[in-house]
Amino acid sequence: MARYTGPVCKLCRREGEKLFLKGERCFTPKCAMERRAYPPGEHGRFSGRAGRESDYSRQLRAKQKGKRIYGVLERQFKRNFDDARRRPGLTGLNLLQILESRFDNIVYRAGFAESRSQARQLINHGHFILNDRRNDIASTSLKPGDKITVRETSKQTEYFKTLRQAGEMRTPPTWIEADLDKLTARMLRLPERAEIDGNLNEQLIVEYYSR
Ligand code: SF4
Repeated sequence: MARYTGPVCKLCRREGEKLFLKGERCFTPKCAMERRAYPPGEHGRFSGRAGRESDYSRQLRAKQKGKRIYGVLERQFKRNFDDARRRPGLTGLNLLQILESRFDNIVYRAGFAESRSQARQLINHGHFILNDRRNDIASTSLKPGDKITVRETSKQTEYFKTLRQAGEMRTPPTWIEADLDKLTARMLRLPERAEIDGNLNEQLIVEYYSR
């Protein structure tokens, strides 16, 4: 599965806001947005964001932000959008629900990882069982009722032992049931719009793909 492998803090600086792509570091003074809150590149500091943004620019930025928050590349994101358009209901909300249902996002939301990229790595390394079968594909789309379990051998690793101890510090959203002691999680239902954070403007994303 293709993924972005460049410096992720640049993505936040490009969007002009924290996208929280690096876990704990995002909450420390080491965060690049605390130290260099201007766009990357030679002219970044002097480019300014003051001028009036065009509609296209706002739509493009909203789409890019969505891709970056969920760690999805263009082709996959467009595929997700086409899928969202085919479903009944609001296309924008459908898109967000599709992104939230990704295996890596659920692992992150359940509290098994600090960031979606770390969740992706844990999945790729084969640490999880999805509905009684080992699954190492981070883009797998989960349905309500699907259950994630950490493999027995993986439970003995230092990472998961430490995670169990820190369990109480992480609270999953109400649409996911997680037991960090047993290292299991279940997707209960699709999230409502108000339960999806990220400061995303899905309407602008719909407008971008409807041009
Ligand atoms: Fe973004 Fe986190 Fe890097 Fe800060 S530390 S710039 S929030 S990825």
